[in-house]
Formats: sequence, C-alpha cells, structure tokens
Amino acid sequence: MLPSTSIIALTKFFPLAFCSDILRDLTSSELQSPFQDPGSEDAMPQRLSGGCQCGALRYQLGRLPKRSCICHCRMCQKASGQPFMAFVTFDENDLRWTRGAPAIFKSSSLAERGYCRDCGTPLFFKFEGQEISVTTGSLDDPSAAPPTVQYGAESEIPWCGTLRTLPRIRTEEDFGPELLVRFRSYQHPDHDTIEQR
Ligand SMILES: [Zn+2]
Ligand SMILES: [Zn+2]
Repeated sequence: MLPSTSIIALTKFFPLAFCSDILRDLTSSELQSPFQDPGSEDAMPQRLSGGCQCGALRYQLGRLPKRSCICHCRMCQKASGQPFMAFVTFDENDLRWTRGAPAIFKSSSLAERGYCRDCGTPLFFKFEGQEISVTTGSLDDPSAAPPTVQYGAESEIPWCGTLRTLPRIRTEEDFGPELLVRFRSYQHPDHDTIEQR
C-alpha cells in the first residue's frame, strides 16, 4: 500500500492519463464499504441485474458489490458524454452476461470499457485485475447501491456542486398531456425478458 502522499503525487503527475480508478486499487483496502457484510440490515439483494437500453445485452451479478462510486475523471466524462459516471464494482467472476456480448474499447494501457454496439449504452469499466465495475444507471435498480466515494476529483466540473439547488421538474410535467399521449418508450424494461423487447 502506498502512503497517501504518494497517491497525491500520482494524481499530480497523471491527472488525465489514467482513469482515476487506478487510485481505487491503491486505496480500496482503506475504504469502509457498507456492502461487505451480507448480514447487516443495510445489505442489498443477493442478486442484481441490468442491461443496456435496447435490451441486446443483459447481465446478472451473483454477489453483493464491493464498492459503489462516482468518477469525475476526464475519461469517464468522455466515455459517457456526461459530467461524471457512476459505477458499482464486483469481482469479475460474479458478473455473467445472460444475453449478448459487449463491444469493448480499450481506453488506456490499463483499462477497457464495455458498451452496447447497438444502442451505445456504456455498461462497464474494467481496470486490470479481477474487478469489474458496471455502470450504476444500467442496473435494473440503480438505487440499490448508493455511492460511498467520488474519484477523479481533479476533473470535477465546478457546477456539479450546485445541482441540488436547481429547480426540479418531473417528466410528465415537462412533457405535458399532449406529448404524453403520443409517447411510446422503445427502452427495454428493467427486468429479464424472453424476447429482446
Ligand atoms: Zn443495447
Ligand atoms: Zn473515471
């Protein structure tokens, strides 16, 4: 384990070259994860599942997650097209693809990212080693694993801190009755199905 001063030095030298998940491996044993104890009242369901937006890819997770995080690093911003990404981390052996196989982009010499080649949904980040992190939004229940740490702090977009102060509008309110009547979702439902749709 590197001392924390070494970790700070790494962030100064490699702020953009590596996804900050490199730091996850350096600090993982220091994190107090609420997910490690299956017997606690806060324990999550034993089996989580998820998939992409079009339903071509589905996965199941066999055990409790090891961690849940947000990552603000520049690679996660680019990979998602969003201000930050959220991940839930598992042992790679606990992830099983039950439909389809993801396309993979090797985003650095140390990591790769999986996505659906049909609809583009980002599905996982995998740093070298035995861990794999699925995107929190691709889980059938994204609320199941609340994040406990934020990575990539050096690239956090400043306005992220003000999000809670913005006006809040529900989708039905935003659409209004006329659009709601015409709206049809082509998104795969949040559970396994026999057919893709
Ligand atoms: Zn898809
Ligand atoms: Zn990242």
